[in-house]
Amino acid sequence: MRLLVVEDEPELADAVARGLRRDGYAVDVAHDGQEALDRLAINAYDLVCLDLNLPVVDGLEVCRRLRSDPYLQPANGEPSPRVLILTARDKLGDRVAGLDEGADDYLVKPFAFEELLARVRTLLRRDSGRTGALLAVGDLTLDTARFEAARAGRPVDLTAKEFALLRYFMSHPGEVLSQEHLLEHVWDENTDPFTNTVRVTVGTLRRKLAAATVEAPDESDDQPIETVVGAGYRLRDDG
Ligand code: CA
Repeated sequence: MRLLVVEDEPELADAVARGLRRDGYAVDVAHDGQEALDRLAINAYDLVCLDLNLPVVDGLEVCRRLRSDPYLQPANGEPSPRVLILTARDKLGDRVAGLDEGADDYLVKPFAFEELLARVRTLLRRDSGRTGALLAVGDLTLDTARFEAARAGRPVDLTAKEFALLRYFMSHPGEVLSQEHLLEHVWDENTDPFTNTVRVTVGTLRRKLAAATVEAPDESDDQPIETVVGAGYRLRDDG
């Protein structure tokens, strides 16, 4: 999942970005409204954490353009990003205005970081139509609140990036996801687009998922992440 944090207070922007990265999200940061619009025009985000009181272009205007500007609409029928407003303006009018402009939720500053994470999880889940912090596809389960992955009940020890990749696959079961799409949604803009990082990370994730079935020989070559030749990868959705 790739997130854009739009916040003009550098320390708060850094703290939010760092915390979200620690949870395995790919995070880019914009420090004013125009920078946010520029990034939204070139990158595919799953969620935007948007401050309202911003220099250059106000947060409400960013939200309005994100929902209405044809240049900011995602290609290929992808959903447009969820918007979580983070604002010190706790007056009712501002909240209503934000929701009227197409925001999905809001959080009033100061907020507990745990609450931010919970809201982000809820909003990202809404896209996949699943409920609870637990994702389950086939024999895979992922506790997105506790960072625990398991296959057929056996724990699988994953790095933050492998976890983020599996979370993305499990949020889009049965869908063919190209390397470019995965790079857009699981890695941030500091990643070299010509790198083979997607292939490498899919490889290590597959090895760990395969190793988790070692005690059940009949399932051992049962790989949940399939290669779709010429198109990308797909997480099998048997259930
Ligand atoms: Ca601000």
